[in-house]
Amino acid sequence: MAIHPLEWAQLASCRGSEGSLFFSPDTSERKEDRIEREQLAKKICSGCCVRGECLEAALMRHEPHGIWGGLNENERRGLVGN
Ligand code: SF4
Repeated sequence: MAIHPLEWAQLASCRGSEGSLFFSPDTSERKEDRIEREQLAKKICSGCCVRGECLEAALMRHEPHGIWGGLNENERRGLVGN
């Protein structure tokens, strides 16, 4: 089923979740805390029916921060080779 580009966010599993789970806090974050936070966010992403649309949108706009489509910024950069 094709989803209109403006509609996918309405189907997001993270809708209503704390954004703090998907993005680093402004202050420094310990490595262990980051790993734990990202694992929790990725668990939500793993069951999301619009994961592909989310990842594609993040890649298209070179999203520099956060978990999108189940990948963090470093993993997305690795995907596109930069
Ligand atoms: S893939 Fe993850 S970040 Fe993207 S919409 Fe789904 S739950 Fe949210």
